[in-house]
Amino acid sequence: MTDRRILIVFGTRPEAIKLFPVVAALRATPGLTVRTCVTAQHRGLLDQVLAIAGLVPDIDLDLMEPGQSLDRLTARLLTGLGDVMDAEQPDRVIVQGDTATAMVGALTAYYRKIPVGHVEAGLRSGDIYHPWPEEVNRRIVAPIADLHFAPTETSAAALRAENIAPGSIHVTGNTVIDALLWTQARIAADPSLAAALDPLAARFAGKRIVLVTTHRRENFGDGMANIARAIARIAQRDDVAIVFPVHPNPNVVAVMDDLLGDRDNIARIDPLDYPQFIRALDMAHLVLTDSGGVQEEAPALGKPVLVMRETTERPEGVAAGTAKLVGTGEDRIVSEIFNLLDDKDAYSAMARAHNPFGDGQAAARIAGVVADAF
Ligand code: UDP
Repeated sequence: MTDRRILIVFGTRPEAIKLFPVVAALRATPGLTVRTCVTAQHRGLLDQVLAIAGLVPDIDLDLMEPGQSLDRLTARLLTGLGDVMDAEQPDRVIVQGDTATAMVGALTAYYRKIPVGHVEAGLRSGDIYHPWPEEVNRRIVAPIADLHFAPTETSAAALRAENIAPGSIHVTGNTVIDALLWTQARIAADPSLAAALDPLAARFAGKRIVLVTTHRRENFGDGMANIARAIARIAQRDDVAIVFPVHPNPNVVAVMDDLLGDRDNIARIDPLDYPQFIRALDMAHLVLTDSGGVQEEAPALGKPVLVMRETTERPEGVAAGTAKLVGTGEDRIVSEIFNLLDDKDAYSAMARAHNPFGDGQAAARIAGVVADAF
């Protein structure tokens, strides 16, 4: 029998991190031919992950343009991915998460009646503007997909509540934990992979590191300005150092340039490649972020994570007490950080290694389900 053709479509850094273990697991499955298509919705950050994972995409649509509107991106994805589907004629398409690439990848497959598998299915904040536009992107994928890979029981329940057929939902764990464990093992075998952080580790020895990431579209504007001012206030403490890999989006960079200022204990640095970022997480005392993936990784490493959002589609960390929603108000961010810095009990209550998001075997489970579905 000829191999079944799987086309895996992705476009951003988090999708690449969460899909490279799936690509590997599917490639190791007999009877499947795996092809990868990147839309490069985020060029530079995507390429960092491809390099580390040793992944060379079969098709690269290279769709990133500076300042591209969501309309234009979506339109170009629709025609670009439609052409790819026609040329590739896959037997199944796999998308991940909640980007425009995932949403349009599912839609173009649906237009051709190609079945779709959705990795990281069922995350819901319940608010279509937080995160925006991701909450609606992932909701659009749900009725199209016939295989839903829910990372947790909570996300599976959210899908069932939307009348998704229970038999099509598979609780697999989140593939980010597969990626994290694989990368930790690689760093252990070859510390040079994360050695670029040696100077920073030496410079901030004896200080408690607050690792910051921010990039959410709904935080652009006032939210981002509040975040910048809050970080500047936190950095007035000499016992603290800020490590801040700044997302290249101009809405982030410009605000940080304007409002953050330069101090010896603030390292505003370029985005780190994945092994370096994992080491930065390891060096951190606590994490301040609006990222989805970082909310999943930090608890796995026992790092308290303060989430600069009003809602989260990842309630598991909050329920476990390892993550806390702090919004984007300047005073609230500062007081929550100071509380963790000054109250040992509050800190140790949050700093428990806890991993509600997976066991590192999610990709193998996904590959098994995909193969069985044929
Ligand atoms: N990350 C990285 N380098 C950085 C910052 C983040 O490799 O400088 C990784 C991080 O480990 C996580 C992912 O990027 O796995 C999160 O991506 P992002 O915050 O852009 O997107 P989200 O997860 O919010 O969709």
